[in-house]
Amino acid sequence: MAQSNERGLQSSKEDLSDWYSEILIKSGFIDFSPVGGFIVLLPPAAFIWERIREYMNREMEKMGVKNSYFPLLIPESLLKKESEHFAGFTPEVAWVTEAGDQKLDERLAVRPTSETIMYTMYSKWIHGTSDLPLKLNQWNSVVRWETSSTRPFIRTKEFLWQEAHTAHATEDEALKQAQDALDLYERVLKDLLAIPVIKGRKTEKEKFKGAVFTYTLEAMMPDGKAIQMATSHMLGQNFSVPFEIAYVDDKGNKHYVWQTSWGLSWRVIGAMIMLHGDSKGLVIPPEVAPLQVVLVPIIYKGKPDPTPRARELAHELELAGIRAYVDERNDKTPGYKYNEWEMRGVPLRIEIGPRDVERGTMVLARRDTGEKSVANMADAVAAVKDALSSIQKSLYEKAKQKLSSMINEVSTLDELSEAVKSRKGFSVVNLCGDRECEDKIYDTTGATVRCVEESAEGKCIVCGRPARYRAYVSKAY
Ligand SMILES: [Zn+2]
Repeated sequence: MAQSNERGLQSSKEDLSDWYSEILIKSGFIDFSPVGGFIVLLPPAAFIWERIREYMNREMEKMGVKNSYFPLLIPESLLKKESEHFAGFTPEVAWVTEAGDQKLDERLAVRPTSETIMYTMYSKWIHGTSDLPLKLNQWNSVVRWETSSTRPFIRTKEFLWQEAHTAHATEDEALKQAQDALDLYERVLKDLLAIPVIKGRKTEKEKFKGAVFTYTLEAMMPDGKAIQMATSHMLGQNFSVPFEIAYVDDKGNKHYVWQTSWGLSWRVIGAMIMLHGDSKGLVIPPEVAPLQVVLVPIIYKGKPDPTPRARELAHELELAGIRAYVDERNDKTPGYKYNEWEMRGVPLRIEIGPRDVERGTMVLARRDTGEKSVANMADAVAAVKDALSSIQKSLYEKAKQKLSSMINEVSTLDELSEAVKSRKGFSVVNLCGDRECEDKIYDTTGATVRCVEESAEGKCIVCGRPARYRAYVSKAY
């Protein structure tokens, strides 16, 4: 073990923060930029983001959401139009005040999110019912100048995301869109990244600034801290009124549109890493793994070289749509290669020695469980596909069990403090819904209400009045 650690990771997964920083660099996922809080996205991580984009683009197409692009800079006067929104974002906005040696007449915000610039345009384009619904998405980056400490993917000053913005003739339609978006995110997280989540709504305090309410998906990390995975906002008419986005019906009556916005950022990649990785390194779900299978020929002096057979197999796998690679480096031992690919999180390894070539067999080694099995080369494609789909499923199932084990019912503030202190995960409490009670939870425990479900059962954990919500409380990233 000590030997493998020298070549691999110094940190143990128990020290999640150190482990996370080390694995991101060693696996070639990211590097730090000269400007603090900004990161460089390297090919393996860019590949995963690309897979998420492809999947979401297909799904959004089915929803009638089209891709578009809006400018990076937003005039201050526009950002100010919805006051709650402006107040919520101002502390984190980066401003452009000069161009060359000219001071600008109006300072321009580097977009922290694009509601205001997009809705200015929406008001130009929407006039009648035939202009609705309008559903546009953009894949871009936004800048939020975080004052708290940054962490790659999880909290960076610039991050990649998609932001979709829809406008509808009716409230019901908008509501359904906000829910459909949340369901889409749940599928992205489950089908691609094998991340189980709790689904719910944000409280007034925690909602998106400017929204009527916010739906959220929350995941739980192994260190007992929650992480917000994606949000979908019901904007109601909060933006359509100040931005004058309205349509005139058949009878000549004017109606403001109903809107939603929803986003998913690259922090889901960070969560995937923290959730599935182990002390050997990354464990990447097969659906998004840049390399799904690595083939390692094992060469013995005086025996036939299995490399040509490994190449043939890799070719066969590639033709079947599997991302395969033969590690032919002759200055590295098989053991070294095993460790390296394990550290990089490749889901499946195929070992082929001279005797395997003779017998027409190969050894499959799973990254997630370390299990080894023998399969016939003649069935390589089927065997590999089975193994990959089994790994994908079992990563999700394992994570789901873990999540369930980290949800605890708690009925007093003392119990809650204890649960938060020992990082047990989500504490489920009854809440009346008053801001004071929510503040009290934060003041006494340092934890926040991650999401709530409507429920009239029981009494508020803080004030004892009848509850309105079941709330999931936890410290969070
Ligand atoms: Zn209360």
